[in-house]
Amino acid sequence: MTDTTSKNDTLFARAQQTTPGGVNSPVRAFRSVGGTPRFITRAEGPYFWDADGKRYIDYIGSWGPAIVGHAHPKVVKAVQDAAARGLSFGAPTEGEIEIAEELCRLVPSIEQVRLVSSGTEATMSALRLARGATGRDKIVKFEGCYHGHADSLLVKAGSGLLTFGNPTSAGVPEDFVKHTLVLDYNNVPQLEDAFASMGDTIACVIVEAVAGNMNLIRATPDFLRRMRELCTEYGAVLIFDEVMSGFRVGLGGAQALYGITPDLTALGKVIGGGLPVAAFGGRADLMHNMAPIGPVYQAGTLSGNPVAVAAGMTTLKLVQEPGFYEKLGAQTAKLVEGLTAAAQEAGVAFCGDAVGGMFGMYFSNQVPSTYGQMMAGDKERFNRFFHGMLDEGVYFAPAMFEAGFVSSAHDDAVIEETVAAARRVFARIA
Ligand SMILES: *Cc1c(COP(=O)(O)O)cnc(C)c1O
Repeated sequence: MTDTTSKNDTLFARAQQTTPGGVNSPVRAFRSVGGTPRFITRAEGPYFWDADGKRYIDYIGSWGPAIVGHAHPKVVKAVQDAAARGLSFGAPTEGEIEIAEELCRLVPSIEQVRLVSSGTEATMSALRLARGATGRDKIVKFEGCYHGHADSLLVKAGSGLLTFGNPTSAGVPEDFVKHTLVLDYNNVPQLEDAFASMGDTIACVIVEAVAGNMNLIRATPDFLRRMRELCTEYGAVLIFDEVMSGFRVGLGGAQALYGITPDLTALGKVIGGGLPVAAFGGRADLMHNMAPIGPVYQAGTLSGNPVAVAAGMTTLKLVQEPGFYEKLGAQTAKLVEGLTAAAQEAGVAFCGDAVGGMFGMYFSNQVPSTYGQMMAGDKERFNRFFHGMLDEGVYFAPAMFEAGFVSSAHDDAVIEETVAAARRVFARIA
């Protein structure tokens, strides 16, 4: 692995003096792939540049938000205009109404919505609301789905079937996670068993309907359909965590794709357009439980921040331009097809999948449908691919367990350049 990027090395060494591991979010540290993280100085369209001035084609897009490409002139202008009017007021603004109306219109299951500043806050608040509304404590999540870092959600499956989970982080009390049941993704019989044995104690089920935090894994339609039926039957709240999939897999999110109506939805990433906006919303009768009109408390100094809302609202306008998702989906499919063909030429076991502007790359012969299948991919070969592509100026997520993201700025030339680089790298790692 050729990490000759001296300024990145210098900055990384310096960062580690004052910041744990040198980064403000763990996956940025390249721990999974090894090597030195790139320190980014600027970004534009499908590209960003590191501290050495090296240009990369970016397939992370800030982990999803940069769906119209980096530094889109209209988004930048909206942010500049908003900033000039004041950065934060701690009092309501008309912009917050506008983005709320837009979210309710574009995601019909959302009748009312509250803005927060991160996906973590959105899911954490949705859980509290589900618990508050049902008067129940237990929650169900699925292995491999990530819902931010709230205590109740940093949980992996317990040792036995239908036993409650174990914390995945130090500092999370057993007392918190004993209420979290972790089940297998796409396992319908297990979900049915869980409801049969404890359905009337379950406050909610939270799920990524298109999972993007265990690489990319699609839910089966049957899995989501049964989940919806069981939640309705037992009075549990169904929460779709669409922080990643919302406005990424299509205009109405994964729920529109599958035709399933959740009770609550968490949004983030794209709806902030690169600034901190996230939201949770859903059925009005549930949302009426929120303070100041209901008993479930939730608040935020910077919630609905006017500059962030301006970035989000402008991004939401841009994705509604005619043909936006058709084009985005076609470019993403083109990328996956090109990578797959390049791998085949070199005889590397590889396959891919894409949903809207989101894609998965699997170093195996079969697109996975469970966390276990995904984990069985060839991590060592992925790491060599990752570093090979990085040398070639293409920046994929620095871990095999992450999805990738294409923006509307990834035109044919960019995709072709990526595939040409992949052809050279696959040949080297075959
Ligand atoms: C990114 C993500 C979160 C957490 O959002 P943050 O803004 O990082 O707190 C939650 N759920 C899903 C599905 C995500 O992809």
